[in-house]
Amino acid sequence: MSAYADRLEALAAEAADRCTGCGKCFEVCPTAREIGLDAGEAKTRVGELTALTRGAAPVEPLQKWLNACDGSARCTAACPEDINVRQWVTIAKMKALEATRPRSEGATNAAGRFRHMAQAVRLLASMQLPSETLQRILAPAERRTSDVLFYTGCNVLRTPHIVLNVMDILDALELDFDVVGGTAHCCGVYQFQEADLPTYERMGHRTFQRFGQSGAAKVLTWCPTCTKNFDELEKDVEPPAFDLGHVSEFLAANLDALRARFTTDQPRRRVVIHEHLGIGATLHSIATLLKAVPNLELVELPQDSGFSYACGGQAAKFKDREQAIHRALAEGAVAAGADTIVTMYHSCHRALSGAEAVYPLRVVNFTDILAEALGRGGHPDYYQLYKKGGAMDEAVAAARKFLQDNGVRVDESSVQSLTADIFNETGLAGGREAFQEAFTSLARQS
Ligand code: SF4
Ligand code: SF4
Repeated sequence: MSAYADRLEALAAEAADRCTGCGKCFEVCPTAREIGLDAGEAKTRVGELTALTRGAAPVEPLQKWLNACDGSARCTAACPEDINVRQWVTIAKMKALEATRPRSEGATNAAGRFRHMAQAVRLLASMQLPSETLQRILAPAERRTSDVLFYTGCNVLRTPHIVLNVMDILDALELDFDVVGGTAHCCGVYQFQEADLPTYERMGHRTFQRFGQSGAAKVLTWCPTCTKNFDELEKDVEPPAFDLGHVSEFLAANLDALRARFTTDQPRRRVVIHEHLGIGATLHSIATLLKAVPNLELVELPQDSGFSYACGGQAAKFKDREQAIHRALAEGAVAAGADTIVTMYHSCHRALSGAEAVYPLRVVNFTDILAEALGRGGHPDYYQLYKKGGAMDEAVAAARKFLQDNGVRVDESSVQSLTADIFNETGLAGGREAFQEAFTSLARQS
């Protein structure tokens, strides 16, 4: 076993030692209820978790619980002993997988998932970003020299206007920062989820070390999954030399500096945040930031915000529940007289941005609002154009220009794959035909 794997084992063993077996974590677990596991058996399930951690073979009810976990962190919030139960469950899930199937099977799954994601991200980023910006993001982390590294992760590059917004905001704060991301700096989530620890160490673990090699004093994360993984599977394993935190928390801590730069001529709007708990203080930070924007009224709406830490990802296993959350949000927002839904993360933005085709609502990311309030932003949200399913002329013209600039070709099979990626994800959207036809035509011309 590697030194890293040893330290993970030690974290889980410490959780098991501190656990009193009260069962509160299992009682509140939303995905355990979703798959029909009985809250009345909480102490038994936690006993099985402790036994697995101490070397017993995984038993079936426990495995069902572990497999259902979508990382909501409701368990951690409920634990009276302050145990990071989500972290414990994540490590236990990997251990259970290691015990029940050959590592090669997990490695194959992880490689396939990574390859598919990397192809989609590369294409979508190349369709929406100029080469100069893309190359700046993709350059190796360890060669950076700035005090602050804004780490995008991989998947936000499907909706790159969010990255441009954050860069605008950090620019407005006159920070010495650099931006880094893309699949060469992956957090290794697939490898960890599939219990391919040796490859995880060469990917996610290595990415984290590269941040340290850059000498940055602060790493600002964007992606909630990267934030969770680096926080719980890296920072807790070995404290880094740099400070790590989500960009929304950093911006909220710099609210006075932002407020001083906000322009007062902002549009009047009534907004609802599409809420997720589970990633530090991101929700509180985003609400605080939005409340400071001139002429913006934040409308409180009761939501199922504890079901998952973000849309998609592990929560995609529960398509009906996600769909119900999205519909209730849009209908609740309309009923409350809101005119805008604000997304916290990129996966939620992808899920909801097409809602404009269905409901009388605008859908923007919180970074859209902040960047505009600073007199910047305004970057086209091409992904939203795809998702709304209306006229594609603007999106196709941009894609043609950026693909050429990036030296990337799109072929018909890639368009088919992208269409499935974009329109099969749970969410609210217009039809897929407009995107498919317009981009198939682009592929035939290229
Ligand atoms: S993180 Fe959420 S889904 Fe996972 S075990 Fe904890 S409460 Fe359940
Ligand atoms: S809530 Fe905490 S102490 Fe109670 S069973 Fe869960 S991990 Fe153990």
